[in-house]
Amino acid sequence: MAYSNRNQQIVELFPKLPNYRLAQIEEALFSPEIRSWLDVSTLPKAMREKLDKDMPFMSVTVDEIVASIDGDTHKAAIIVEGGQKIETVLMKNKRGMFTICVSSQVGCAMRCGFCATGKMGLIRNLEAEEIIDQLRLWQQYLVDNMGEDDRISNIVYMGMGEPLANYENVKSSLNTILKHTDIGTTRITVSTVGVLPRLEQVLADEDWPHVRMAVSLHSADKATRKEIVPTSYDDFLPKLADWSRRYLERFGNRRHHLTFEYVMLKDINDTKHHATLLANFVNRIGTVRVNLIPYNFTDCGFAASTIDTITAFRETLDKKGVVVTTRRTQGEDIAAACGQLVKKNEK
Ligand code: SF4
Repeated sequence: MAYSNRNQQIVELFPKLPNYRLAQIEEALFSPEIRSWLDVSTLPKAMREKLDKDMPFMSVTVDEIVASIDGDTHKAAIIVEGGQKIETVLMKNKRGMFTICVSSQVGCAMRCGFCATGKMGLIRNLEAEEIIDQLRLWQQYLVDNMGEDDRISNIVYMGMGEPLANYENVKSSLNTILKHTDIGTTRITVSTVGVLPRLEQVLADEDWPHVRMAVSLHSADKATRKEIVPTSYDDFLPKLADWSRRYLERFGNRRHHLTFEYVMLKDINDTKHHATLLANFVNRIGTVRVNLIPYNFTDCGFAASTIDTITAFRETLDKKGVVVTTRRTQGEDIAAACGQLVKKNEK
């Protein structure tokens, strides 16, 4: 197995390191009470001191954490190597458990018209440990700020960046998290705008952990989708339908489903005509869930659909037998949509 960047650095520092020491180090990294190499009591003192001198214990540092007024959403702007900022979010769900949203890239090349991150362009991919350390950061935050029993139960890769455009680092982060936490494959969702060669890779790759997948569809009409996602192309929809059928044939079951994300944009993709197209598209594939996302306003030129429009859209889907959910809006008062906090701080 290839070493992650962090493990590679450790092996370079200690060339004859036995594997069990790496396992001890990884275990310590996922213990939120441990905050420094010097506290890793399973390692010899000399090793702790060398690590403390030569390697940061955390690959990211917090710039700012803001909490929503209701206290259920916490958003962090964090600094990565090179000084750039990314975002990660902690959200309390209805069952009192916590979901975190992690970023996979600094910026993003996909240029989705409604997205603040898309305006930044791609700056760089995050290393696996920079993704993992977003989880570690929130684990430590929970220990310091929440109740004893509070824990992170779900992870969504829906922050800044297109996860499948950073395939190997995302895969490595997933496998590490699955190995060292009790968060299982059906509690992790990787959300993609639909990079088809990488979606094919997911199907073919035996090392890809079968976490849930969500594809940001946003419209089942070719022209409308292109307006929202400029990197979309003419035969995207039939190709996605074909991939989705094969994906469901292989992995679909009661607990492992495929989701199409659909951000509700006023007068763009929220009409009855669009709902009918979407229902027909989904019904031709099989059991795909549709998740309607109320738009969190950014200064990107799109406006949010009204609650009544979302309700009517949902009813059209319901009537046609589509399994549909509407995402709970959270943290609007702290600019919780992807890329907004970093952009706000830059202004
Ligand atoms: S919505 Fe996601 S894929 Fe699209 S530009 Fe924003 S971060 Fe990238």
